[in-house]
Amino acid sequence: MTNFTTFTENNYGKKLADASNKELYISLLNYVKAVAEEKPKNTAKRKVYYISAEFLIGKLLSNNLINLGIYQDVKEELAVAGKNIAEIEDVELEPSLGNGGLGRLASCFIDSMSSLGINGEGVGLNYHCGLFKQVFVDNQQEAEPNYWIEEQSWLVPTSISYDVPFKNFTLKSRLDRLDVLGYKRDSKNYLNLFDIEGVDYGLIKDGISFDKTEIKKNLTLFLYPDDSDKNGELLRIYQQYFMVSNAAQLIIDEAIERGSNLHDLADYAYVQINDTHPSMVIPELIRLLTEKHGFDFDQAVSVVKAMVGYTNHTILAEALEKWPLDYLNEVVPHLVTIIEKLDALVRAEHKDPAVQIIDETGRVHMAHMDIHFATSVNGVAALHTEILKNSELKVFYDLYPEKFNNKTNGITFRRWLEFANQDLAAYIKELIGDDYLTDATKLEKLMAFADEEAVHDKLADIKHANKLALKRYLKENKGINLDENSIIDTQIKRFHEYKRQQMNALYVIHKYLEIKKGNLPKRKITVIFGGKAAPAYIIAQDIIHLILCLSELINNDPDVSPYLNVHLVENYNVTVAEHLIPATDISEQISLASKEASGTGNMKFMLNGALTLGTMDGANVEIAELAGMDNIYTFGKDSDTIIGLYADASYVSKSYYDACPQIKEAVDFIVSPEISDIGNKERLERLYKELLQKDWFMTLIDLEEYIEVKEKMLADYEDQKLWMTKVVHNIAKAGFFSSDRTIEQYNEDIWHSK
Ligand SMILES: *Cc1c(COP(=O)(O)O)cnc(C)c1O
Repeated sequence: MTNFTTFTENNYGKKLADASNKELYISLLNYVKAVAEEKPKNTAKRKVYYISAEFLIGKLLSNNLINLGIYQDVKEELAVAGKNIAEIEDVELEPSLGNGGLGRLASCFIDSMSSLGINGEGVGLNYHCGLFKQVFVDNQQEAEPNYWIEEQSWLVPTSISYDVPFKNFTLKSRLDRLDVLGYKRDSKNYLNLFDIEGVDYGLIKDGISFDKTEIKKNLTLFLYPDDSDKNGELLRIYQQYFMVSNAAQLIIDEAIERGSNLHDLADYAYVQINDTHPSMVIPELIRLLTEKHGFDFDQAVSVVKAMVGYTNHTILAEALEKWPLDYLNEVVPHLVTIIEKLDALVRAEHKDPAVQIIDETGRVHMAHMDIHFATSVNGVAALHTEILKNSELKVFYDLYPEKFNNKTNGITFRRWLEFANQDLAAYIKELIGDDYLTDATKLEKLMAFADEEAVHDKLADIKHANKLALKRYLKENKGINLDENSIIDTQIKRFHEYKRQQMNALYVIHKYLEIKKGNLPKRKITVIFGGKAAPAYIIAQDIIHLILCLSELINNDPDVSPYLNVHLVENYNVTVAEHLIPATDISEQISLASKEASGTGNMKFMLNGALTLGTMDGANVEIAELAGMDNIYTFGKDSDTIIGLYADASYVSKSYYDACPQIKEAVDFIVSPEISDIGNKERLERLYKELLQKDWFMTLIDLEEYIEVKEKMLADYEDQKLWMTKVVHNIAKAGFFSSDRTIEQYNEDIWHSK
């Protein structure tokens, strides 16, 4: 392949210096696609199909250049022509095929599968308007369609198409693919994104509302369409079945092509079910084997049972899908027959009602079907897996102890260090070489520098430069004025009560009131939030509203703004994360213990030299173990205590409010005239009442200790030698959280590919 300069001259008749950033982006896109096209497909015998409703892939240009090993060359060619690669990156629209951590995990996993040379691909849907684009109007979240597919995009069309049968009609699919290029690998894999031909944007009305009944035109319009009514729920079933029927047909076709007689299908394919959304792949594979390939039912079941694994991502009951049989009968009656037979198999073996697939009210428990018919059931962090085994899925663990295993989540260091924090990556290479890029545990070599002042100084310089870069980004793209000399304290993740952004907001109120009283902090603090709330999740919207009101109040108050700023960054996504994380000092990981299955944001911050302020929840527990308790700031009740409080329903938020003046003062401020004058009374009062009368996710139980530990952390920051020693410990021990390690474990214990 020629270099990029020659490629652009040959294909576009332009010198780099004469091309616009948009033209350079298009040329780079096609250059990368051309290089990728020359790479052979990975061909190991057993192929892994990672089926997921979400892939939060982020922008692809720089990630692909890095994985091809040509990022630096291209950057220099552009620089010579007076062009800045960062400005060209800005041209790309971020795909919107995911929601949060689960979708980002799936993306890190396909990167790692390719980078490790595993024959493993993603399978999902190509949502044209994605989740939604978040905009703030009157300090409230509004949702707009997030169009991201342009005429020239990374999607590579194929001629592959399947018929997907529904009750009243059959839909033809089309398959578009994204190349998944492993880091410095010769072979490649794909992300397979199925779509329909007839997507009609004309169905969209106000915001993201649309006619949910026009399945032939809306099936791939949006990820997670509003399911607060029956038509919304039916549409999700249409989407899920469309996804897995295509996946199952692809799996069978590819296996036959590679020599399988289908009785040995499990030697050719393994299906990883990411959360319950793809669960119908189990009955669909059985249906195809029996209806199209002459298997009898028992034969088909035994083949499928040897080739699927299920990953559980949450213990929140509302996230474990239970579809009413009636609904399934309206959409896919041919699958209901199979599900009923699977249910009968389970009933013949097990009497306990708690383990049945179809319950007495006629609901199909997707997770139960997965667990009975999978070879493996895994949680996503050590604590989470223990909770599954000991409480949430205990009845199943007692039946199948051998199926349960833990696979602590991870992140790809190519995107979250090498790309997002280029100065830090370069400095690490200077100190310890670059073998950490393929073996992340090599970062431990940094421990030798833990106490070196020159290293501390350089790390502080890099952090400051990243704050300046963030300042530019926020100014240009989000209308935010960041003070680069302040301590940056960041909480970015989906808005959910269990993640407790409301507790952080109460800290902000507390700090504001302290400053008003004249208790000034030594150094200015900037508290940054980012995240979307599900449009039907009212309390989460109320929390967003409170934070936006606080931001308006505090940033405009001349007494307070020299000491405290609050920002909520609009439309949080991967690109925003890539800018925020390298500039952050304090990583807020404050979920109610037992509720955050793993978290992956926590890992990105650790790797980028932020210190964690967190509860002993999810992978925070493993961060604490690896970095050492001296190098993380933990607080709050532990998960056993919290699980006990739920079990005996003994938490009363009002008792914490009454017992602690600081808490009372902060909570009352939500309905004070200062805030009410700015905000919407109905929202603020609802949130206030929620905290006092219900507080299901126990905000107030940990608030006092949270304030105390955060103050300790801010004080420690003033001792830079102490702080930077902790920073080095964290970066050095972050290697465990490489998704390459996670994927190696999946392959070793579950997939057995290669
Ligand atoms: C990593 C990531 C997440 C997950 O964050 P958590 O803090 O683990 O919930 C969500 N969204 C984006 C854009 C991410 O990059």
